[in-house]
Amino acid sequence: MNAGRIIAYIVAAVLIFFGVLFIWGAFSPNGSAGWILIGLIPVGITFAMVYFASRKSAKAGSDAAQVTYKIDLPANVEMDTLKCKACGGVLGPENIQMIAGAPVVTCPYCKTTYQLTEEPKW
Ligand SMILES: [Zn+2]
Repeated sequence: MNAGRIIAYIVAAVLIFFGVLFIWGAFSPNGSAGWILIGLIPVGITFAMVYFASRKSAKAGSDAAQVTYKIDLPANVEMDTLKCKACGGVLGPENIQMIAGAPVVTCPYCKTTYQLTEEPKW
């Protein structure tokens, strides 16, 4: 996967090099306007490739973040026994937000907001 991306970047660099060369050549005394069109093709392909590559990696990154979030939370909190300290209402995962790395509970019943402390395991 990583090697494929490196090859894609090298191909993109070569394509943009020749694309710029053709566009540059079009403005030289011996060049013709048709060279601009020829030069725009590899440049366009390059931008499309970079666009799809960055979109794909951004999606993969958000997926990875979601997975770690789901794995991390049950390790810190006993979800099935979690109740509001103020009113005893049952809290779900949607009531917990990670603020500055600490789980913060916002109770949907009494609107109390407090930091969730990890209970001793022994
Ligand atoms: Zn409450």
